[in-house]
Amino acid sequence: MKYIGAHVSTEGGVALAPRNAAALGARAFALFTKNQRQWQAGPLSDVSIAAFAENCAAAGIAPRYILPHAGYLINLGNPDRPAREKSFDAFIDELRRCEALGLLYLNLHPGSSLGKIGDRECLNQIAAAINSAHEKTATVTVLLENTAGQGSWVGWRFEHLAEIIAAVKNKARVGVCLDTAHAYAAGYDVTTPAAYQKTVAEFDTVVGLSYVKGMHLNDSKAALGSRVDRHENLGRGLLGLGPFKSIMNDPRFNDLPLILETIDDTLWKKEIGLLYKMGKPAERQ
Ligand SMILES: [Zn+2]
Ligand SMILES: [Zn+2]
Repeated sequence: MKYIGAHVSTEGGVALAPRNAAALGARAFALFTKNQRQWQAGPLSDVSIAAFAENCAAAGIAPRYILPHAGYLINLGNPDRPAREKSFDAFIDELRRCEALGLLYLNLHPGSSLGKIGDRECLNQIAAAINSAHEKTATVTVLLENTAGQGSWVGWRFEHLAEIIAAVKNKARVGVCLDTAHAYAAGYDVTTPAAYQKTVAEFDTVVGLSYVKGMHLNDSKAALGSRVDRHENLGRGLLGLGPFKSIMNDPRFNDLPLILETIDDTLWKKEIGLLYKMGKPAERQ
């Protein structure tokens, strides 16, 4: 069965996210547990934690179909030590927020070398940060999101994700969230059924499909291999609808949160309906 959702707003409090998801007809959702463009946030209150759980139950959405996204300021690969430590502290705070909300995952853009260190050193810093984060927290699994490779971000090649995972000691607490627009911009074609199969097979060989715990379903305004991160609504960009039809009929992506981050949120309800219709009845349910 497929679990489609969107990255919904938490304006007015985290407890509103499951309600916003339910209003879209979603079976999954993503959210920020704090303002994604600020370092500091007050702790979640017991009241909002209880309301979040209550609203998730009312929406019928279990924690494994919820993909919290880490804030955009965090860069665990920052070559500057004080800046990296600031990122690490914010990362720990986010992991603890997820734990407090009873969530299983935290989706993270791996990091950026800022052009000052090599990719390998950057990947090692990220893995080291994840290892210490695992020691300081109890349960949440860190999901590395493949990036578009814009600027000096690492994580755009499947090999980058594999290198981080190889250096993480607790493999049970690391996984991947695959973003279709980022993969395409990074040079992984998925637009024809053959290209889609080749890219998924390559991911399986290099990283392993068992690490995929969620996906971001986005069309791309940016060209194949452009290394530019520009999302588009489904069917309006360069991916077209083909890859989404492939995903909806691919049982390897059953029972995972599949999340829209497309630019026009007024289309989400329609897009969710469209995706469900793309699946064969056996996949749709
Ligand atoms: Zn992301
Ligand atoms: Zn994404």
